[in-house]
Amino acid sequence: STRPYSNSTGALLPPTYERLYNKYAEVRRVLGTQRLTLAEKILYSHLDNVEESLLSNTNNGRDIRGSANLKLRPDRVNMQDASAQMALLQFMSCNLPQTAIPASIHCDHLIVGERGADDDLAAGVKTNQEVFDFLESAAKKYGIDFWPPGAGIIHQTVLENYALPGLMMLGTDSHSPNAGGLSTITIGVGGADAVEALVGAPWELKAPKILGVKLTGKLNDWVSPKDLILHLAGLLTVRGGTGYIVEYFGPGVDTLSLTGMATACNMGAEIGATTSIFPYTEASSRYLKATRREQASRNAEVFQNFPGAGASEDSFFKFKADEGAQYDQLIEIDLSKLEPHINGPFTPDLATPLSQFKKTVQEEQWPEKLSAGLIGSCTNSSYEDMTRVESIVREAQKAGLKPKADFYITPGSEQIRATLERDGTLQTFADAGGILLSNACGPCIGQWKRHDGVEKGTPNAILTSYNRNFRGRNDGNPETMNFLASPEIVTAMAYAGSTTFNPMTDTLTTPSGAEFRFPPPRGLEGPQTPFEQGKQVFAVASQPPNPSVQVAISPSSERLALLEPFEPFPQSDLSGLRVLVKVAGKCTTDTISAAGPWLKYKGHLPNISANTLNTAVNAETGEVNAAYDYLSSSSSPEKVTIPELAQRWKERGQPWLVVAEHNYGEGSAREHAALQPRYLGARVIVCKSFARIHETNLKKQGVVPLTFADPADYDRIGAGDEVATIGLYDMLQRGGQGQDVRLKVTKRGTGEVFEIPVRHAVSEDQAKFILAGSALNLLARGG
Ligand code: SF4
Repeated sequence: STRPYSNSTGALLPPTYERLYNKYAEVRRVLGTQRLTLAEKILYSHLDNVEESLLSNTNNGRDIRGSANLKLRPDRVNMQDASAQMALLQFMSCNLPQTAIPASIHCDHLIVGERGADDDLAAGVKTNQEVFDFLESAAKKYGIDFWPPGAGIIHQTVLENYALPGLMMLGTDSHSPNAGGLSTITIGVGGADAVEALVGAPWELKAPKILGVKLTGKLNDWVSPKDLILHLAGLLTVRGGTGYIVEYFGPGVDTLSLTGMATACNMGAEIGATTSIFPYTEASSRYLKATRREQASRNAEVFQNFPGAGASEDSFFKFKADEGAQYDQLIEIDLSKLEPHINGPFTPDLATPLSQFKKTVQEEQWPEKLSAGLIGSCTNSSYEDMTRVESIVREAQKAGLKPKADFYITPGSEQIRATLERDGTLQTFADAGGILLSNACGPCIGQWKRHDGVEKGTPNAILTSYNRNFRGRNDGNPETMNFLASPEIVTAMAYAGSTTFNPMTDTLTTPSGAEFRFPPPRGLEGPQTPFEQGKQVFAVASQPPNPSVQVAISPSSERLALLEPFEPFPQSDLSGLRVLVKVAGKCTTDTISAAGPWLKYKGHLPNISANTLNTAVNAETGEVNAAYDYLSSSSSPEKVTIPELAQRWKERGQPWLVVAEHNYGEGSAREHAALQPRYLGARVIVCKSFARIHETNLKKQGVVPLTFADPADYDRIGAGDEVATIGLYDMLQRGGQGQDVRLKVTKRGTGEVFEIPVRHAVSEDQAKFILAGSALNLLARGG
């Protein structure tokens, strides 16, 4: 009965698209013939309440960009193993029998790259067994698809299996926008956001602005879609895409492969974009067929040609922007003029065209010796990437050459690995001395144990076809200069073993003394016959929820711990708080919750909390990670670390607050930076300003973020001072209305009492979270 739709030829609307169709009809009813970008069409067609959202500010949906808060209903959630732990622990506290929307777990981040695929996988499974057991049992209990270790990297697996044009997905990983290559809106989020979608609550997003990238021309031989995004990162910098969806359009789009478009979307994360998206093209349809999804490709066609609610052309949901759609910013790139780029070191926006790279290396005195070349990962392990690389490896082989630098290959999934094995590509790499790593993140996320004698602290250069190159990102060595390039450029330069080699113009000397120049790479967009599915042991376990399954968490585990719900806000203002520490200068999410070795405790809130603020600078003493216990009975305050003091006060039932300066919580969306202080007893953070995402995260965990109305008041309040709130409870009860909130400060030592006016940005929903103790508490009781 919900499918009354058939077109003039009698074709039925594909079931996958019924909901989208209905929502889109509503969008069109509200916006009329207004021209929309593809991103807007998909996003607005996932609104919980179309009318309310689109008409909230003005009568023009375009004006909501950058201002309205959209409440969205994503189609699915994808989680990687590191972030899935906290997401699932939070989901479990809601006591629901199953997830409200489909979801998947991908075991990819915890496998170390060291000796090669088989050994590394076995070692990774052993070290992380209890985490994998936990994830698998939770998947079984709640009916979540489980991709075991070795199955592949989340973004590649999602592209191959779950991405469909028109869908909206959330992924608990910043490179989730990879699926935008197949015309989905996919946004990277933290665990708490994922849980909102998993329990069926609408998920909130500030309506993004749209940055249009018009592509013309066609890429030349040595140039790949990776170079498009490397170039764009150079233009826009790491912050240029913040608050935007990057939407590609123009005739150049039709010249790109589907996986090439995914690569460009993947690295939209490097310019800070909310997500990126490409229109649906012939290449998209070919990719769906090659990945055994012929039906999906047919559905997309039927849907695109299905007459809409109105009679006009606009009422068709084409997977592309409407003619004349407006962009908030527009960049035009002629693909024919693009040249290969190498970006880095240490930041993905330091872009150098290949022709300038030798000069730059010499001027900057970067190492000329290349110590390793690494290709693949979620960013660049497509069939096209790998066969292009294969073509140049074969030529070099024929000339008797071997790579001079270590050469590693990371397939993005078992499907691509098995297909490359079947088609002989992997054998070519093995013959060249390439080391095949497991289908996992490995060296892309610091999980790389090098055995090439490059000690920690030794400056050296590596080239990767990955997406990120922050200091220490690959091997934990802050002196490793990591440069990003396309897989074919990485490989050719690995043969030279040199960072100054330009494969387009320079030659190598063969063992017989001849001069060898690489021919331009040539590859196949996809395999001639559909992709292989690979080893059965890596196949997905898809299952209906099974309530009888016990989720595996040992009470003695050091890596996993069930979450206890946080206590609700008292039915009064807060009183008797003490300032734990007054922080000076930058305080990022890394400062609040360090990564590196602490990552292994991501599923164990008490254990990971031992790193809370452990690199913060004490404003009163200038010391790092030092706090003073003014409440201890001894005559002079005892000096301890910040997390030690927090733990002490937690045990004494002493609630506390932190005082800080500007942009508190900048950096990533890491939810642990909000969870940990809350767990240890923080009720308030008061500072000069907040980073937006962290401010939201604090509210979700029931911590009240406040800013000084007069930043000079930062100087009047210090460690050990006693603080009570005035007007806070009233404001929360009134759903965030009103700004008359003050802190009553009683100075430690002198007993002097004064009031400090503060500001807040608490919305109606957020007031409810805080009153309930956390967003999760509210979700758990169905609020
Ligand atoms: Fe993230 Fe790298 Fe893994 Fe991709 S391969 S998901 S970028 S860690």
